[in-house]
Amino acid sequence: MPREGRGTGGAGLQAALRSLPSVDAILIWLESEPAIRGMPRRRVTEAVRETLAQERRRLLGAGERPSAPADALGIGRRVVAQLTRAGAFSLGPVINATGVVLHTNLGRALLSPLAQERLLRVAAAYCNLEMDIATKERGSRYSHVAGLLRRLTGAEASLVVNNNASAVLLVLESLARGKDVIVSRGELIEIGGEFRIPDIMRRSGAVLREVGTTNRTHLKDYVSAIGPETGLILKVHTSNYRVVGFTAAVSSRELVELGRARGIPVMEDLGSGCLVDLRPYGFPHEPTVPEVVASGVDLVSFSGDKLLGGPQAGIVVGRADLIERLAQNPVNRALRIDKFTIAALEATLYAYEAGTALETIPTLRMLTEPLAGIRRRARGLLRRIPAEVQRALGARVVEAHSQVGGGALPTLDLPTAALALGTASRPAQSLDEGLRAARPPVLGRLLDDRLLLDCRTVLPGDIPALAHAVSSL
Ligand SMILES: *Cc1c(COP(=O)(O)O)cnc(C)c1O
Repeated sequence: MPREGRGTGGAGLQAALRSLPSVDAILIWLESEPAIRGMPRRRVTEAVRETLAQERRRLLGAGERPSAPADALGIGRRVVAQLTRAGAFSLGPVINATGVVLHTNLGRALLSPLAQERLLRVAAAYCNLEMDIATKERGSRYSHVAGLLRRLTGAEASLVVNNNASAVLLVLESLARGKDVIVSRGELIEIGGEFRIPDIMRRSGAVLREVGTTNRTHLKDYVSAIGPETGLILKVHTSNYRVVGFTAAVSSRELVELGRARGIPVMEDLGSGCLVDLRPYGFPHEPTVPEVVASGVDLVSFSGDKLLGGPQAGIVVGRADLIERLAQNPVNRALRIDKFTIAALEATLYAYEAGTALETIPTLRMLTEPLAGIRRRARGLLRRIPAEVQRALGARVVEAHSQVGGGALPTLDLPTAALALGTASRPAQSLDEGLRAARPPVLGRLLDDRLLLDCRTVLPGDIPALAHAVSSL
């Protein structure tokens, strides 16, 4: 502890600390402040205490000759500024100008207008979630999407849980608890955060039997690993990385043949389950859910909010008897989806069935938008920025590459158009900070010494707000 200075400095500090206004005095001053009206009282009191503590620390840190302490007015103004900057809510919209379409940290997939509408409807009214209204009997929440999933994937049955990680956990727990699960070493993946196949396997009580090597696994590796303890053969789609060069992997079809011959179910974790073939839009081939189902795999799992473009969910489709075992597992109750997920998922799947998915589901629309359209949006954005601001920030439209994100198609770069900002006197780093402080915050991409605002992921309706944020820099 620093010792208090002797004489006038110490006494001055004590006097300064004593003359700080009380919490109550500041709260009384704040009562007349319109910006604070309606804010939860506890939040205001906490902000007052924090600001007072900051001021006390400042005085103590100033040493022997503290400057004048802030009065109730000064502290009150700082509290108002802090509370209005923070806003009433923590979670809120941002403008995604990163070009990453499925940005996990920015909420992954956006919902189609139809999905938004259906979600709002069940939010505001009671609904037939688990009741067959005609018979008044108890129904199943999963029934609302079962028909759609059957027709769209070709699988007999389906179950939907909270996310794909829980889908994998549920399958392992239901079919392979205390048994061996055979997985290729080339597929022991980590999907960001805490999801690693070997970890989830341990948690489920299944025993991992790794076969093959990182780059090459052959059918004979699976064959020799099969024993009386084998409960499941698991294939994991390496959605977020690629093993290239001298590689070998066993196809789903071959694994299905092996599994059938030995009476062992085969599951494929497809990760980013796509329902449509995106090759006509210049994408490399990704196995679609219907293709994998057609290969005969017993169960396929995939995310609702990756390439599918719906709400967060984990969808399992496949053999009816196995799905029944998943549904009966008490663990399923802990992974149960709510009515909002079902409403949004039903509307999303409906668009696929109606043939409107590519135009109405934002993820698909953004991924397949031709460069010309993105370029038009970037030029439109530039035009809305006053010429002197353009000059000051070095603003110009450039061509760049955006990414799919969400661990899907990792090696793919999509040609895009972006507004580039940054000069020697207005460095990109500080412009990035400035845009993140805007309302709504704008997230761009720093590349070399420029800040790119990639227009692939900027919604047309966000262009005016984005132009305003840039012009206010
Ligand atoms: C993304 C992914 C998961 C996890 O899915 P979430 O829906 O994020 O839980 C699991 N497996 C694979 C192969 C993935 O790509």
